[in-house]
Amino acid sequence: MGSASPHQNFTVTIIGGGIGGLTLAVGLLRRNVPVRIFEASSAFTEIGLGLSIGPAAHRAMPLIDPKIREIYDSLVTTHADSPGYESYAQTWFEIVWASGVHEGDLLMDLKALPSGQTTLRRADFLEALVKLIPLGIVQFGKRLAKLEETADGVNLQFDDGTTATADVVVGCDGIKSKVKESMLPEESKDKQPQYSGMYGYRTVFDMDKMVQAVGDQRARVSTMYIGDGAYGISYPIMRAQKVNVGLYILNDTWDSDTWVRPVKKEDMLRDASKMGRYWKSLVEHMPDPSQWAIFEHPALSTYTRSRVAILGDAAHASTPHQGAGAGQAIEDALVLAELFGDPKVRSISDVKAAFKAYDDVRRPRSQRVVTSSKEGAYLLCLRLEGVGNDADALKKAFQKRLRWLWDLDVQAHVDEAKHKMAEYMHHTASLQAL
Ligand SMILES: Cc1cc2nc3c(=O)[nH]c(=O)nc-3n(C[C@H](O)[C@H](O)[C@H](O)COP(=O)(O)OP(=O)(O)OC[C@H]3O[C@@H](n4cnc5c(N)ncnc54)[C@H](O)[C@@H]3O)c2cc1C
Repeated sequence: MGSASPHQNFTVTIIGGGIGGLTLAVGLLRRNVPVRIFEASSAFTEIGLGLSIGPAAHRAMPLIDPKIREIYDSLVTTHADSPGYESYAQTWFEIVWASGVHEGDLLMDLKALPSGQTTLRRADFLEALVKLIPLGIVQFGKRLAKLEETADGVNLQFDDGTTATADVVVGCDGIKSKVKESMLPEESKDKQPQYSGMYGYRTVFDMDKMVQAVGDQRARVSTMYIGDGAYGISYPIMRAQKVNVGLYILNDTWDSDTWVRPVKKEDMLRDASKMGRYWKSLVEHMPDPSQWAIFEHPALSTYTRSRVAILGDAAHASTPHQGAGAGQAIEDALVLAELFGDPKVRSISDVKAAFKAYDDVRRPRSQRVVTSSKEGAYLLCLRLEGVGNDADALKKAFQKRLRWLWDLDVQAHVDEAKHKMAEYMHHTASLQAL
């Protein structure tokens, strides 16, 4: 793939080296597109919590670069990592009633074909992705403050007072994106990240402790606990040595300036009180009662302006209730890498066409993920209109929603973007010929 020397006369500057920025960089490098990254932190960092990637993003990985999928597959935990649980190899989650008359009973074994549940520790994935990036192309400690497009480039200003210029910019700087704010200054005034009406408690347990709290099956098989106004989630990570755990509570308001706030153990116990015996036991073992507000981003009118675009959470940060946010960043990265890797993309005018095609294809799907993820919370909290706590309706709703998310024909998605890019290029060429 790619030719010996770049066919483009531009360098792509990526702001932010999270999962979105790094997978994009790997995809561009593989296609011989010149790249550099500015990252705010002093090193690539990631919190040690778990991450679950759905089948569509899993299929997108090798198309970005087979090495990404190799890394992912080498790090993932599946149910087969727990001896005796091999028959759960294609299970995504078991959905279990948290409380009520069915407390502890199984609603359904939700499969994710063919991969089943694949989870990992986010920090491990990021660390492995970093090894695919030549360090010379990364500048750390560079927090973008704002950017401004000029006639022949983009001026970047960083918090440390330094500046740089760029040909083309992709903002992968997360939910509080400065690239987005500079690119869409008017729209950004009204569209800041907003509290989604839910907060959570999150931690990672040692498997031994988890088994002690909820028993072997519930500890080793990924589980979603559906409850009245709250839901819980657990899945094994690190070859089933540890278990990622989260409890999410519907709550209309969040009256704090910070997104994470310490609370008392009694608050957590009160929140878990309606969630049945498993969660009563789990929260007793939870070391840190911090509450994490869950934020999401309102839908933007575009993901690009001229030679600047946004990707991942910078464009479409969603709630975590479908485990799809990082997967969407990976799908974005595939589409952009494939467009930029096309030998037809040589000039800034071609870049603009590529960005418009990326926006056309990626915005509807990723924005639908934001809304369906939020509805997913209501589904899990037995509050989705028309479904409530009706067992049959719940089963149908889970299947239907996830099929849409997972059954994407990833290659057709890329082809559609390429087709649109060719149309934009043709249109520009026709205008120039006039
Ligand atoms: C509780 C929770 C659980 C989740 N679970 C899942 C899951 O199971 N599966 C899933 O697919 N998704 C999950 N997600 C979503 C997922 O974490 C995000 O969608 C994903 O991390 C987005 O990646 P990103 O690269 O776009 O942004 P980020 O991961 O936020 O990375 C942004 C990067 O940009 C850098 N940066 C920020 N500002 C600047 C700046 N001004 N200048 C330069 N650099 C900057 C940051 O330091 C960081 O390195 C979850 C989210 C939450 C909150």
